[in-house]
Amino acid sequence: MVESLEPLEQFLREYVELVGGLWDEIEPQVYDVLWPESDLPQRFTVDPEALSEHPSAQFVTFGLPLLDEMLQQAQKQSPTTLVYLDNLHLSPHNLLQQIQRDLTWPEETQARFGLAQPRYVNHSVFWFEVTYQGEDRTQAIHTSTVDRYYGRLVRYLEGVLDNPSLEIQRRWAHPDATAIPLAEAYLLARERVLRNVIPETNNQQVLWQARQAQQLTRVKNYFKDMRAELEERIERARTRNEPLEELQQRRESIEREAALRTEELQRVTPVQSSIRLLNVLHVKIPRLFVEVKLTHTGKGTLPELAPLVVSWQPLVEKTDALNCLNCHQPTYVLTLNRRGGLTCPACNPTGKS
Ligand SMILES: [Zn+2]
Repeated sequence: MVESLEPLEQFLREYVELVGGLWDEIEPQVYDVLWPESDLPQRFTVDPEALSEHPSAQFVTFGLPLLDEMLQQAQKQSPTTLVYLDNLHLSPHNLLQQIQRDLTWPEETQARFGLAQPRYVNHSVFWFEVTYQGEDRTQAIHTSTVDRYYGRLVRYLEGVLDNPSLEIQRRWAHPDATAIPLAEAYLLARERVLRNVIPETNNQQVLWQARQAQQLTRVKNYFKDMRAELEERIERARTRNEPLEELQQRRESIEREAALRTEELQRVTPVQSSIRLLNVLHVKIPRLFVEVKLTHTGKGTLPELAPLVVSWQPLVEKTDALNCLNCHQPTYVLTLNRRGGLTCPACNPTGKS
């Protein structure tokens, strides 16, 4: 259900929840919203066609003052900024088998596991407002979420923000896992949004130029017709020996106007885009951490390997990819290089293990 929502609808729901209000979808794309300090619900819709049936509803769309107001409020009110999702089952019966299944160790090594320990991992969800300023102004909302333990972008929280189990109170005394600084997380999230914004800006530029080219053709045709008509009148006046002065002046003024309009339309103004951070929400979710000691089982002498820490996510019931110690990219497969270091397969192309 959540997957099929329009971004705007998603934003409306998230925004209402973030400021502590309630929403009720009375029919597809029509909502009754009860704001925190209000007794009467307000009706909103993201579907223009629903307005005839619900004339009292306010239409939410990008670029309308209502949305701008909401966005501004979202920023000012700074609603709950830290929530917990910690009603998850933390003792799966086959944890070690799952880890063994999800991760691949180097050949000729054996894994020994320590005790699983829960820690809270912080996730930061960033809402960005993107404005494209070209021929007209359009806006879009982008969300990106960073796992602050591994310092990576994740998608599994997308459906979670509607989860009624999100709480302001922390339920357990588990310690927090280490986390990358907020500014670093912000840059990762912003870069992710930028990757979408750059092609979209170019796209809008192309569309705009196409529209301008069309308009230029129309304007040129318009002046061509005017010139033809005038030339006929001049011709007629000439045969009747009438004065031509006025018509010649008219011809000059048409040429001036044509040059002006053409020049205006040929001027290329680049579409500008800007990104603004609207809101940040931190979601702490417990995860199980297990120390893994790999020992060599093959012949030959290799230096002893430092213990690894792997993590398992109760939310998605999966082991997390590890960060390669060499390139820092996520990997589910570890190999052993010639010098006895653990790396991802990409960092160890000879596959020597
Ligand atoms: Zn690597």
